[in-house]
Amino acid sequence: MKDPDFDLLYALVRTIADFPAPGIQFRDITPLLADARGLTLALDGLAHDIAPGSVDAVVAIEARGFLLAGALAQRLGCGLVPVRKPGKLPGATLGIDYALEYGRDRLEMHVGAITPGARVLVLDDLIATGGTALACGELVERAGGRVTGFRFLIDLPALGGSRLIAERGWPARALLNYP
Ligand code: AMP
Repeated sequence: MKDPDFDLLYALVRTIADFPAPGIQFRDITPLLADARGLTLALDGLAHDIAPGSVDAVVAIEARGFLLAGALAQRLGCGLVPVRKPGKLPGATLGIDYALEYGRDRLEMHVGAITPGARVLVLDDLIATGGTALACGELVERAGGRVTGFRFLIDLPALGGSRLIAERGWPARALLNYP
């Protein structure tokens, strides 16, 4: 992707101060999703450097990960597995609890959604502290999958999540960085 393409993607991410809580700079990707060229560029960038046939499933994290995951999986020629907040999936689930800045949360996946040994790409819109993405990666491995990489539209590197993913030995890449 060329510099003007990155410029367009940055221009299409809207920053909303103090949402959902005071002090948070919320990176809103809805203008990017609404822009045909921005959406295509984002998917091109996410799929870039992923060899055809190298991924068996895209695992998408609720909720904004879902917005890109179907299109990315279709480009990669694989299926899509949703990882959801508790109580949303109708079938038997496998879950993982993880720590948030304040409190705890939980992610769930359908039992059998991942074929043992499947090569999995984990996708979310943004990585901050990395708690969500790390928990999702662990859940994939508990389900018998093999995490081959993570893709994010946005990294907030100052919050350390992408470093934790790298320390865990998983390759991660984000298209846009907000220092
Ligand atoms: P974390 O577990 O801290 O890496 O947080 C990542 C999750 O929270 C992702 O699913 C994001 O959608 C959401 N998130 C965290 N911080 C922000 C932010 N500043 N702007 C938009 N979404 C965020």
